[in-house]
Amino acid sequence: MTGGAGFLGSHLCDRLLKEGHDIICLDNFFTGTRNNVLHLQQNPHFELLRHDVTFPLYVEVDQIYNLACPASPVHYQHDPVQTTKTSVHGAINMLGLAKRTGARILQASTSEVYGDPEVHPQPESYWGRVNPIGPRSCYDEGKRCAETLFFDYQRQHNLDIKVVRIFNTYGPRMHPNDGRVVSNFIVQALSGEDITIYGDGQQTRSFCYVDDLIEGFINMMSTETGFFGPVNLGNPGEFTMLELAELVIKLVGGRSKLLYLPLPQDDPKQRQPDITLAKSKLGWQPKVVLEDGLKETIAYFRKLLNA
Ligand code: NAD
Ligand code: UDP
Repeated sequence: MTGGAGFLGSHLCDRLLKEGHDIICLDNFFTGTRNNVLHLQQNPHFELLRHDVTFPLYVEVDQIYNLACPASPVHYQHDPVQTTKTSVHGAINMLGLAKRTGARILQASTSEVYGDPEVHPQPESYWGRVNPIGPRSCYDEGKRCAETLFFDYQRQHNLDIKVVRIFNTYGPRMHPNDGRVVSNFIVQALSGEDITIYGDGQQTRSFCYVDDLIEGFINMMSTETGFFGPVNLGNPGEFTMLELAELVIKLVGGRSKLLYLPLPQDDPKQRQPDITLAKSKLGWQPKVVLEDGLKETIAYFRKLLNA
């Protein structure tokens, strides 16, 4: 697993170890941390490897989950050239590894491939509306190019590929400072700071709890050979950022007020997954409603921040 010490990767490690797999967890610790997998270090079936996916890797594996890539706008815009390299060179290196070993390989793609969409909700057949030269492009176009590489390696070298497009996912082990909206709002509410609403707060996102998403990963990895995706994985429950802020304030308590800040460039106005394909091909749909998932996430951050 690449990016295995990150938010999603560490949960996927937990789940795969429970199912009896052996894992090589690869990470360069850019946004991930050893703390996320500290509890696994003594497990003989778990091996942690410091490595950057932009460099080739020679190991023997029979499945690859390719998750390495900073996911929050603050982190992926910190070093945009490295972000594109991670997606594109990382995909080339991992596809090369899959080609040599014959491993099945799953790509963690993103709803960002749809950009600021004119089709709502977004089905997999929608080609997207992405700015190729803006501040989000390093991530969006890097991920789009990685999808292209996956499908070309499949057509050209007959690789056993799987591609999932992940919509906003949240839960314990999110980085407290990575600037994503759920962690920002919870950390701000717990610290008694103002809640930062970008723009008028009417833009929407659909939030999936991490446990549901991991289930979707596992189901996708075990679909029949010849089914490649892409498949949307996300929770169709759609909320405005104002609704999210109000819910977080209600669940945390405290006296945080709303602070309106400028909307970042190219911020998508709406986003909701069409999960018809995931339901039919993976037998998957999310179970955790936002309020329950937020309670778990708040409890995690409360402990982390001692708040
Ligand atoms: P994260 O930042 O917690 O995890 C990414 C991991 O990749 C980190 O551990 C980081 O250190 C590692 N990494 C970054 N660059 C690397 C490199 N060059 N070499 C090796 N490791 C590297 O983010 P996450 O939310 O866990 O996201 C995991 C994957 O899922 C990413 O590919 C992301 O694009 C995708 N995704 C996540 C979401 C979401 O809402 N969480 C949505 C869409 C897509
Ligand atoms: N957002 C916000 N306040 C914050 C952080 C984010 O209003 O403190 C908004 C952001 O502008 C976007 C939405 O929340 O419209 C989701 O942002 P995030 O960075 O979590 O994910 P993405 O934009 O990549 O979906």
